[in-house]
Amino acid sequence: MKDTLPLLDQFNRPFRDLRISVTDRCNFRCTYCMPAELFGEHYHFLPKHDLLSFEEITRLARVFIGLGAVKLRLTGGEPLVRQEIEILVAQLAALDGVENIAMTTNGFLLPQKAQALKEAGLHRVTVSLDSLDDTVFRRMNGGRSGVQEVLDGIAAAKQAGFAPIKINAVVQRGVNDHTVVDLARYCKDQGYILRFIEYMDVGTLNGWRLDDVVSAAEIAEMINAKMPLELIERNYFGEVALRYRYQDGGGEIGLIASVTKPFCGSCTRLRLSPEGQIYTCLFGVEGIDLRGPLRAGASDEEIAEIVRGVWSRRTDRYSEIRTEQTGVAAPKVEMFHIGG
Ligand code: SF4
Repeated sequence: MKDTLPLLDQFNRPFRDLRISVTDRCNFRCTYCMPAELFGEHYHFLPKHDLLSFEEITRLARVFIGLGAVKLRLTGGEPLVRQEIEILVAQLAALDGVENIAMTTNGFLLPQKAQALKEAGLHRVTVSLDSLDDTVFRRMNGGRSGVQEVLDGIAAAKQAGFAPIKINAVVQRGVNDHTVVDLARYCKDQGYILRFIEYMDVGTLNGWRLDDVVSAAEIAEMINAKMPLELIERNYFGEVALRYRYQDGGGEIGLIASVTKPFCGSCTRLRLSPEGQIYTCLFGVEGIDLRGPLRAGASDEEIAEIVRGVWSRRTDRYSEIRTEQTGVAAPKVEMFHIGG
């Protein structure tokens, strides 16, 4: 049963978006998320029995929809490394009240999976591709893939009927910032909606430094110098990207400026980790366990009550206060654990 009133936090932000991390594993080793030197062959990922089953995820999703969730996004790690993920997509697509099911993937397994995901009811796909330069891209993903494999994945998603396809690219100074314009031109020509993401201090393992951040303003300037842009309105309350349209009518581009232009004021997102913890912020320090109550026989209403309590007490606005916290930050949850 859907709550009649929106679930609001301490800043009157309504809960709307649920990000579901279905695994902590990934087939890439992106330097800003899961550096290979820390996540080698001996790293202990979550054992299968610790992961929420598809049935448990679907039951929780139904409870979250009742509390106001309209958008579900499947993330990871890499969601496509979770076996038979299309079965979960079909279960979620069958739920009443869900308007949008999306997935963020590195695209490597899309040639095998795109059609099945589409048939299962997935609405949208966002593919991560940080550069078109093969050497740069391989350096950024821990040598796990070339550019062509990801382009093949994007083509398979297009073939399966996903549109528009969004492309996410994290920009790091001195790493891939010199390849930004080429990627923008390619996505413009292909009709993909590209979103550049400012490099963030997610988790505790990526050695983040403010000096390595290329600001959204710098990125916009680099592109505007070659392909003139104009700023346009966000699509909805809570949209994370600053949207720009190409003046020649050639589509749009987005800039996710969590560091230089934080958007906590309109953050409507909750994250569910693979083992059933909920986090009220990407930079959260501690999660609230739902798997325990779920496996102990709690009713949907009892679980809903836990979530209502967590959200209504929410005061997160990490990006806005990041500057104040510099030097005293608590150990934050890792991005590969709860998705971006
Ligand atoms: S920092 Fe936290 S509160 Fe701010 S936008 Fe990101 S997830 Fe939301």
